[in-house]
Amino acid sequence: MTEHNIKAIKALLSAPKHIVIVPHKNPDGDAMGSTLGLYHYLAKHNHNATVIAPNDYPEFLKWLPGHEHVVIHESDREKAEQLIIQADVIFTLDFNALHRSGAMEMPLENAMATKIMIDHHQQPDGYAHYMYSDVTMSSTCEMVYNFINMLHDTAHIDSTVATCLYTGILTDTGSFRFPSTTSTTHLIAANLIDKGADHSEIYNAIYDTNSFERLQLLGVALKNLKILPEYRTAYITLSQEELNAANFRKGDTEGFVNYGLSIKNIIFAAIFIEHKQEGIIKISFRSKGDFSANEFSRDNFGGGGHTNAAGGKSDLGLNETVEKFISILPSYKHNLTL
Ligand code: 5GP
Ligand code: MN
Repeated sequence: MTEHNIKAIKALLSAPKHIVIVPHKNPDGDAMGSTLGLYHYLAKHNHNATVIAPNDYPEFLKWLPGHEHVVIHESDREKAEQLIIQADVIFTLDFNALHRSGAMEMPLENAMATKIMIDHHQQPDGYAHYMYSDVTMSSTCEMVYNFINMLHDTAHIDSTVATCLYTGILTDTGSFRFPSTTSTTHLIAANLIDKGADHSEIYNAIYDTNSFERLQLLGVALKNLKILPEYRTAYITLSQEELNAANFRKGDTEGFVNYGLSIKNIIFAAIFIEHKQEGIIKISFRSKGDFSANEFSRDNFGGGGHTNAAGGKSDLGLNETVEKFISILPSYKHNLTL
């Protein structure tokens, strides 16, 4: 972000404003951590800020400070859209195209507010007045820290802001193990701990709050795991029936796809999850090294994301989707084999 833009944003935020902060649909730890972190920061400067999420988010994030004030567009449409119309400024966090906000796309597109994007996904659209896009960043939470730093205002990061931002860095880096984690990521995490983020408590709140049913579902997913050694690929399927039998709750399948990638010599993993109600198969892709999950998803399953983590979907049935996936792999053979 240029010094010129930073100055303009500083001027824009110099007096209290009506501000809306939006994460992507099906918000994850980074989406909720970054929006709530920014929310608390802006509230400290007397702005009237609201986080509006396109739809609900997992239970394991429902301890984040301020989560009880989040407006859910899907269930509170009128209130959400009134806030969007009235907003002076709209921050869109952790997504690169307005359609990633689901049914909020048109209200956001039509909004008169000044739009500011903070995001680390590849190939961002140019809808925002001010764009802070950097695909090398570990997480949007790291970028929100940088954004506050660019405003020369890290003194206003208190333990509440720090807790939210640390959470998204933790989840988007896979607990600091993905290649996007840099020494700067660690330095920022250290600063956030100094400012009051309790790393051990945050880890516990995110990862050690499983329900019994979730672990049963993980057992089913691991039983369904298949490998295609010739393509160094692994995949998992979960049918609606299997989800129902395990009393599936939003977020229960988070992280399952990584088990495929944990197998020796596997560099590409996918999970196919049936959503009968939406009539789609939601897919997550993960990769190691140079193989681009983003391009694979973009080219074949109408999605996108990052080099090593992307999502997409399919309108075909579960079996047909897997058949399509397997039939595509040969054309990527030279990228998937040694
Ligand atoms: P996940 O597999 O955990 O849902 O998502 C992995 C990454 O890809 C995240 O950064 C997420 O924002 C992005 N992503 C997930 N689904 C989609 C999608 O349908 N379209 C695009 N463009 N990105 C997605
Ligand atoms: Mn993210």
